[in-house]
Amino acid sequence: MKLARRLQAIKPSATLALNARAKALAAQGVDVVVLAAGEPDFDTPDFVKQAAIDAMKGGFTKYTATSGIPELREAIRQKLEKDNALKFAADQILVTAGGKQGLYNTFQALLDEGDEVIVFAPYWVSYPDMVHLAGGRPVIIPTREEDGFAPDPEAIRRALTPRTRAIILNSPANPTGAVYSRATLERIADAVRGHDCLIVSDDMYEKLLYEGQFLNLGNVAPDLIPRLVVSNGLSKSYAMTGWRIGYVAGPKPLIAAMTMVQDQSTSNASSIAQKAAVAALQGPSDTISAMVAEYKARRDLFVNGLNALEGVRCRMPEGAFYALADVRGLAQRRYKGAPVGDSMRISEILLDDFRVAAVPGDPFGAPGYVRMSFVTSREVLRKGLARLGEFVAALS
Ligand code: GLU
Repeated sequence: MKLARRLQAIKPSATLALNARAKALAAQGVDVVVLAAGEPDFDTPDFVKQAAIDAMKGGFTKYTATSGIPELREAIRQKLEKDNALKFAADQILVTAGGKQGLYNTFQALLDEGDEVIVFAPYWVSYPDMVHLAGGRPVIIPTREEDGFAPDPEAIRRALTPRTRAIILNSPANPTGAVYSRATLERIADAVRGHDCLIVSDDMYEKLLYEGQFLNLGNVAPDLIPRLVVSNGLSKSYAMTGWRIGYVAGPKPLIAAMTMVQDQSTSNASSIAQKAAVAALQGPSDTISAMVAEYKARRDLFVNGLNALEGVRCRMPEGAFYALADVRGLAQRRYKGAPVGDSMRISEILLDDFRVAAVPGDPFGAPGYVRMSFVTSREVLRKGLARLGEFVAALS
């Protein structure tokens, strides 16, 4: 069947594909340790669920304004001001079906054929494909683990061209867990200041922080706020992945254009989920701090366990909930008579023979690495480490 040409550059989401495969195995009764998608294992807090139940019972089950219900946009406006010291007007905010739709609509509204978007590698698997889907061209700038995955400002300067429309920042980052310092953000700001492009800041992991402080580029470079697009959502912080609530705040003409894209595609995010999101944003923050404390304990347990495995190295992530392990030390060893090979092959062996679902680094622009989410219980993480240990012990 002939499909659209623009799909030729697109791949299925590696995180979702592996997650689906692992969950299907689990449904068949296979005991898989699923470290694939970044999906909190905690349940959505009860007070959030209650708001959804009340919304349904009260008949709040119809279309809403495409851009979101006024009380949710107001709650987001207040959140941005209170938590992030960023001032946006309500008409600079669009509620979307998850963080993904916000980023997707940003590029749909912004890019013409051949326009460029700067993406730092390692990157979240969906950034390059979202840019391709909008006809754009992702321009990948590699970053180095030795630099804490902070981008080199000279590399940014070299990558900027008259076609550069945006640069994507993501701190805490998926998949590296790196958190940009004030100095790093200042250097990025200096590099892009003279160039007329947007700064898309994906702040999805803002609350999932174990070291340091969360800063948005707008906090260190207020002069760039007019060019700032903040993308965020409730999926990770409030354990609400299935509810699909995200939001974008940015320049008014961009938000108006994105609203039009959404008008002509999906309309509003779920009315019921929007009511739940108001409750989440206005509710107590102790549920988040309890989750973060547990993630931190899991991080320490899991990353230290990985580093104890011969041939595996893992940098301690400062935020998010991913361990990005360097497995290049295993590549030359042999498994069942043949060299182990690249991280794609390692992921396959881990799932097929050791029942551990770990995403290869390649689709994140991180060949030689494997990404494992530590959003599962400590008991399951220990089981995962034991199986990884069996794999390493089986190599010659
Ligand atoms: N963002 C998460 C991840 O990287 C969820 C799955 C996805 O949408 O990619 O695992």
